[in-house]
Amino acid sequence: MDNIIILDDALINKIAAGEVIERPASVVKELIENAIDADAKKIFIELKEGGKSYLKVSDDGNGMSRRDVELSWHRHSTSKIKNADDLFSINSLGFRGEALASIAAVSELIITSKPENEISGRRIIVRGSRELINETIGCPKGTTVEVKNLFYNTPARKKYLKSINIELRHVTDIVTRYALINPKIHFRLIHNNREILDVPSTKDFLTNITFIYGKKIIKHLLLLEYSDDFYKINGYISKPSLSKSTKADQSIYVNKRYIKNTTISNAVNQAYHTLMMVNRYPVVILNININPRQIDVNVHPQKSEIRIHDEKQLYESVFDAVTQTLQKNDLIPETLTDELVKKLTDFRSFQLEELTKDAKYYNIQDNEQKLLVKETDDTSTSKLPEMKILGILQKTYILAETPGNLILIDQHAAAERILYEKFTEQLKNKQVDIQRLLDPVILKLTPKQYNIALDKKDFLRDLGYRYEEFGKNTLLIRTIPIVLGKQFDRNLFIDFIDELEKNKKPVSLEMFFHNKIAKMACRTAIKAGDEITLPQIKQYIKELSQKNIPYTCPHGRPIMIKWSFYELEKMFKRIV
Ligand code: ADP
Ligand code: MG
Repeated sequence: MDNIIILDDALINKIAAGEVIERPASVVKELIENAIDADAKKIFIELKEGGKSYLKVSDDGNGMSRRDVELSWHRHSTSKIKNADDLFSINSLGFRGEALASIAAVSELIITSKPENEISGRRIIVRGSRELINETIGCPKGTTVEVKNLFYNTPARKKYLKSINIELRHVTDIVTRYALINPKIHFRLIHNNREILDVPSTKDFLTNITFIYGKKIIKHLLLLEYSDDFYKINGYISKPSLSKSTKADQSIYVNKRYIKNTTISNAVNQAYHTLMMVNRYPVVILNININPRQIDVNVHPQKSEIRIHDEKQLYESVFDAVTQTLQKNDLIPETLTDELVKKLTDFRSFQLEELTKDAKYYNIQDNEQKLLVKETDDTSTSKLPEMKILGILQKTYILAETPGNLILIDQHAAAERILYEKFTEQLKNKQVDIQRLLDPVILKLTPKQYNIALDKKDFLRDLGYRYEEFGKNTLLIRTIPIVLGKQFDRNLFIDFIDELEKNKKPVSLEMFFHNKIAKMACRTAIKAGDEITLPQIKQYIKELSQKNIPYTCPHGRPIMIKWSFYELEKMFKRIV
């Protein structure tokens, strides 16, 4: 008996729609992408009930001819690619010719469009892949697409839609992502006649960002501009002073297409890894320019994931881009963020009396005793401004003055950072101080681990591990790196071997050892309450100013905070 049939088009369309159109937000995303591809300068979005009963996207782009409107909602109808070769050098956001077809299959779709040079436009109404109306109509240049009763004929899908608020949130999210990266396009989002978002066209990226995040964000943002032989990256990233509890405010684009990509996201967040407390994430808006031939956008039904040919290189470029931006900027947190105002009021000791009392090594009034760190420092490599040490507060904070600012430095956090970077440097340069074990350790491994250990012997030797074969699948460990403690840490060593085996993820040595090193640095560094001497302070500041990131301890807590004299004068009401 023959069993196989060929499905009819309407059913094929419905099936395809399931992949492309998941919820109102996916419709809005496709329609926005079409408007951008049509060079629109205005994209207005209107919703009713989170887009479930009605949504409309209108643009002032190039519009469509009568024939194009008629063809546009058919499957595989596209003006964006012509042949297979084009598929591997996509310059537009769309290319598959299935968005409108998918929408048409599961809703009532109304397309109204007119190109610049036509007198009248065309309107077509399609329901469940069936054309109902096709007529001439007067309308302005551009395209308006309306979608009514999404999923009216696929109840199972409809059931999966969430509440109005949740659907609206998804729509707002996608509109925001596209508004962020297209400063020259005016985006407006209206829900149930209420304006949710209005982001006018601006010439400049930063102003555009403030329409979404508010003006206050500016002081927390750093401009990122980077290019190497492979990628050009630009955008804004937040200083560690602005962090979030989720990655929701990280918008990553490849060729201005909003995408989700763990390699890029990991690279960004790893670059911050000692600058922020655990589970805090920077705000990031980054566009990565990649030759379209180096990526495959045709791997995900909603085109929100892409395949990148050289992910490892991409990881490195993004990591470098973010690291360099962080390293070349002053990241000392300004006071008078709300958080720091609170800290200030919490500083019971921040009173002049106590300050002089506790500044036991120097009296702050005594100018002669002021120490100019600059004298001893090579400023060409210094990451910190010239500092005069004023004293020590409660055996915990070094008090210093820089041109225009009063600075408090957490002595423990500073010492931790210095040691952390020293250890990391040793590992990076594979010049670690080693410790010979009095009793060599016998370590039994699995055959696979044993193979790797022998295979990577030279590499591990550079890291401070020296060992020899000691019978079947067994090593005799003779030396270990001092940076990782005095005892041989079996688990760490085995983790490392396993990591070498995977070797897929582009994780660097320093990252791998980060926690361990941070712990060691913390244990070894001077603590709050430990007394330190002037030459020690001098040495700390000098070493700190030569470190890559002299602003936070390896756990992301700030090393120093500053009050500008301007802010101080405001606090003392000298100026208003
Ligand atoms: P794709 O974007 O992959 O080509 P779509 O189904 O989204 O497929 O759209 C089909 C075609 O309809 C597009 O290639 C384009 O020519 C035309 N089109 C759709 N939306 C618009 C619009 N807003 N402005 C101008 N042309 C449009
Ligand atoms: Mg499209």
